[in-house]
Amino acid sequence: MKIEILEKEGEDKLSFVVRGISPQFANSIRRAMIAEVPVMAIDDVYIIENTSVMYDEVLAHRLGLIPLKTDLDSYVLPEECECKSETGCSRCSAILVLDVEGTGEGVTTVYSGDLKPHESNPDVKPVSDKIPIVKLAPGQRIRLEAYARLGTGKKHAKWSPVTRCVYKYYPVVEVDESRCDGCGICVDVCHRDVFEVRDGKAYVKNQLRCDLCGECVSRCPHDALKAEWEKNSLIFFVETTGALPAWRVVVEAFRVLAKKCEIFLSQLGELGVV
Ligand SMILES: [Zn+2]
Repeated sequence: MKIEILEKEGEDKLSFVVRGISPQFANSIRRAMIAEVPVMAIDDVYIIENTSVMYDEVLAHRLGLIPLKTDLDSYVLPEECECKSETGCSRCSAILVLDVEGTGEGVTTVYSGDLKPHESNPDVKPVSDKIPIVKLAPGQRIRLEAYARLGTGKKHAKWSPVTRCVYKYYPVVEVDESRCDGCGICVDVCHRDVFEVRDGKAYVKNQLRCDLCGECVSRCPHDALKAEWEKNSLIFFVETTGALPAWRVVVEAFRVLAKKCEIFLSQLGELGVV
């Protein structure tokens, strides 16, 4: 297996090629990234005061969906924590506090930036300060304490670290120059901007953008195009919510799969098979 980074945009976006991988194995990695890599999300909310127009349940649901910065090295999943306590301990839960009152004449919008981490866990805070939660009229107030915990996307989507996590076959697009007369139909029909016409011939300028729709091949009047894919080479695109860096999601997904294999092997060992 060979991995090559194609594009890295900030911490949150990553695309890479993996060669020598079966689609089945790639799909296991994709599913592990979506549903089995843990991140922090608000899981319990103690509402002290809520005089806004929003029901407590709706407010709690909105809070749960706010992506939080996650430190996987400092926290453990509640089910794996030794404390076995319902509210959790400092190893398995983090506290955030919200206290906003509508002031002045107009409407006060409560944003995710108003959710302040408790001094015991200063690094567990919303990824963005600009997510609107609720609007308050003058005199309305919300006071609450929220408990964030690690969890996985297979239990609830709020614990999924990724917003985009897909792969596609590695495209191979070729133009047969002896047949091409530079009519430019491929340029017009391609919605991924793969081709250009130079000096009376079509050229492939951006092969990796091709999504193998086949439109260029079927519309070319000269039968000059070939759009195929490299067997066992796949391009992954990973974009995270910001809770974890994209590379960390990939690494953790492999760890999850490795752990599953270890468990499988140890169970085979118990059966005396290996
Ligand atoms: Zn604990």
